[in-house]
Amino acid sequence: MPSYRKKGLAMKTAQEYKNSLRSRNIKVYLKGELLNPETLIDHPFIRGHVNSAAMTYALACTKEYEDLMTATSHLTGKKINRFTHIHQSTEDLVKKVKMLRTISQKTGTCYQRCVGFDAMNATYTVTYEIDQAMGTDYHDRFKKYLEYVQENDLMVSGSMTDVKGDRSLRPGQQKDSDMFVHVVEKREDGIVIRGAKAHMTGMVNSHEMLIMPTMAMKPEEADYAVCCALPVDAPGVLHIFGRQTNDDRKCEGTVDQGNAQYGIVGGECLTILENVFVPWERVFMCGETQFSGLLVERFACYHRANYGGCKSGVSDVVIGATALMADFSGYGKASHVKEKLNEMIHMEETLYACSLASSAEGKPTASGAYFVDPLLANVGKHNVTKLIYDIDRLAQDIGGGIIATMPSESDLKNPDIGHYVEKYLHGIEGVSTEDRMRIARLIENMTGGTALVESMHGAGSPQAQKVMYSKLSSLEQKKQFAAHIAGLSGCSGNCADG
Ligand code: SF4
Ligand code: FE
Repeated sequence: MPSYRKKGLAMKTAQEYKNSLRSRNIKVYLKGELLNPETLIDHPFIRGHVNSAAMTYALACTKEYEDLMTATSHLTGKKINRFTHIHQSTEDLVKKVKMLRTISQKTGTCYQRCVGFDAMNATYTVTYEIDQAMGTDYHDRFKKYLEYVQENDLMVSGSMTDVKGDRSLRPGQQKDSDMFVHVVEKREDGIVIRGAKAHMTGMVNSHEMLIMPTMAMKPEEADYAVCCALPVDAPGVLHIFGRQTNDDRKCEGTVDQGNAQYGIVGGECLTILENVFVPWERVFMCGETQFSGLLVERFACYHRANYGGCKSGVSDVVIGATALMADFSGYGKASHVKEKLNEMIHMEETLYACSLASSAEGKPTASGAYFVDPLLANVGKHNVTKLIYDIDRLAQDIGGGIIATMPSESDLKNPDIGHYVEKYLHGIEGVSTEDRMRIARLIENMTGGTALVESMHGAGSPQAQKVMYSKLSSLEQKKQFAAHIAGLSGCSGNCADG
């Protein structure tokens, strides 16, 4: 039995987390090659993502971050990693956002574990409500599963996004029914599912995956309303690792990678589920179509509320890198640079404020677990799709064209031409050319390609947030406010009238 499946190991250290990944029998393809499951976490394309996720384990074992990074399980009363916790208060929700900002400041990138964290909270709250309405026992099943996750301090990949095929067609109308994950067989001992999940953040360095439907399903789409958990190495599961901007640089030295230690965003993959068996005790929704939309919404809102946390932390690093680049180049004191840096700070704190507000305004669900304010969560994520672009635009503005045109580390180290790179890329006295190149590469890494697209589409594309506004905010009420104040006929204009 793999070590991560033993019961009662409690909180893992970063090293224990990494070791536990080696005992999986996971199938991962990368650039057309099947990787060795024992050593794939050392692969240059994957190593950084593992280091980043490991930070969620490492910080939880420190005194300094204990309060942010750990919690007391409401199921067992034991101390657990916060990433396996079910929010018991608005304080928990706020701590989550602060925790995310703290980790981002240390990794400068995504540490992936929030997706499963949010999936577990969403499933916890929704299974309770399904049981209340339908007399099922999903919530108890889920609590047992959650206890297993908490006891073993597992990393769970939240798995929502289906590949969707022809977007103009509903799941049941697709020519190929596998475009949406669905139940193909119901057996006495469990279900068999088939399909694929796209953009799976942190999947290849997780222990488990928690599958959720990708959208609200109609009554005739019962096979697609499925929520269940399975190990990432279950028979029939395989993962195809995605490419990233400049990923081949990971096979070279550290300078040109920008963030050699932690990589870029979450190491996403395409996960194929080819007739995968899931026992009933791991099934938390199976055909209850009327709750599929609720599960999607809960998960999406929990995750969208994160973005002002993790992205403000990432922006702390971008702003720091930008300021260093300006200093290293001799224009750090220029007034327009200072003004732009202030503008960047204004935008990142706006993102943070929105996440804090949606958490502080959280409310208990019927299950007792707390849920974020959904409108503010969506506004926060929507801001990320714009303000991160503006922050990164200013970083590139101040950083200069050199972040896109610089010679490589190999040129710097070449015995024949290295002295030219050294001489002509040098900035102020006292700062080495290599340090200036490292900072330029960090800006390139954090503000371009894969990193930027993640801000747009991670946790749902902007349109997914926009559709929530009319649902969660009442235009009618706003009209009434205006009609009242303008004294329109039918309104007295006296606010005391209500
Ligand atoms: Fe967590 Fe942010 Fe990565 Fe989402 S994008 S998993 S919230 S760090
Ligand atoms: Fe994300």
